[in-house]
Amino acid sequence: MPANAAGSSEPAQPTVGPPLWLLAELTYRCPLHCAFCYNPVDYVRYGQELDTAQWRRVLREARALGAAQLGFSGGEPLVRDDLEELVGHARQLGFYTNLITSGVGLTDARLGALRAAGLDHVQLSFQDATRQMNDFLSSTRTFDLKRRVARLIKAHGYPMVLNCVLHRHNLPHVGAIIEMALEMGAEYLELANTQYYGWAWENRLALMPTEEQLREAEAVVESYRARIGKRCRILFVVPDYFEKRPKKCMNGWGSVFLGIAPDGAALPCHAARMLPGLVLPDVRAQSLHDIWYHSDAFQRFRGTAWMPEPCRSCDEKEKDLGGCRCQAYLLTGDANRTDPVCDKSPDHAIVREVAMHGRLAAHGQPQAPVHEAPLVFRADAASRRLSGPAR
Ligand code: SF4
Ligand code: SF4
Repeated sequence: MPANAAGSSEPAQPTVGPPLWLLAELTYRCPLHCAFCYNPVDYVRYGQELDTAQWRRVLREARALGAAQLGFSGGEPLVRDDLEELVGHARQLGFYTNLITSGVGLTDARLGALRAAGLDHVQLSFQDATRQMNDFLSSTRTFDLKRRVARLIKAHGYPMVLNCVLHRHNLPHVGAIIEMALEMGAEYLELANTQYYGWAWENRLALMPTEEQLREAEAVVESYRARIGKRCRILFVVPDYFEKRPKKCMNGWGSVFLGIAPDGAALPCHAARMLPGLVLPDVRAQSLHDIWYHSDAFQRFRGTAWMPEPCRSCDEKEKDLGGCRCQAYLLTGDANRTDPVCDKSPDHAIVREVAMHGRLAAHGQPQAPVHEAPLVFRADAASRRLSGPAR
């Protein structure tokens, strides 16, 4: 048995299986400027992207560890001109590959090359069913381009998988978004309610929906599901802020998910980069095996031993593993606390307060007018501003 980070020959944590899902964030570069982007707000800070040879090594090591699903993501992964090569390498290694894209840069020729390289799956994102809102939320004119790309994806024989991030501005359009997906021949539609990390956290007061919006949208989804059956599978998950229990984030920290950031930082979850004091291992300096099984970052919140009260003595702790560490940090300033989404958490009132802002902003309240925060769009200048030394 290899020595762990502390030099002991014993594993520091309960037995852990291999990662099953590798997310390769090839780049933070992206032509879009989404106000809900989950990339770090200080992405301009992070240095050089891994080169092709380094990514090939990451893929080999991840596959050797046991990972079977591979997502190519970003930023926009199509800005990398070695994407086809990496897809081909992943296919040789036996990965099931998924391209997660805004569609910008996905031409007929490129999609043909990716198909030839063995790409299994494409997930295309839209911001809304209307050109106006789609283009506003991404701060680009991309609605018509995305529609063309959707047709290309179908023409190349891929199942149509659409993704749309939901929030206060487009939840009332859920019916129209489903209609758009059906008209495009989508087999899957992921209606992903905003997770409040990264740019979405910066914009939380401007994006937070009301509970009524969510319930109405959920009812619309239910009625479509009943009507269309298996023609298009619709995923709709209510955001944590409107629940009383947190989700089992990433199915457990360091349990099945392994993310690699563009600069080679290994991530136990997409948002972990923000956690202060968590030293993320660098794939250029360490093997993935060491990172997964022995690094402090991957062991820090694995299992239940790290838990504070009330989680420690809670009979539901195996069910949600104490929720999301990044959410706990953003809402309380301490990643070690119980996720405030849980109504047993002493910090639960913070979540209610943020969620309440959505209601006040939507309905107004004459006694206490709500400041409607302007959206901050993801862009290099905004990232530089948000990367100040105080953060
Ligand atoms: S959310 Fe928008 S800005 Fe962020 S990576 Fe995806 S397409 Fe680009
Ligand atoms: S107290 Fe902790 S373990 Fe119990 S339900 Fe809440 S978040 Fe889950």
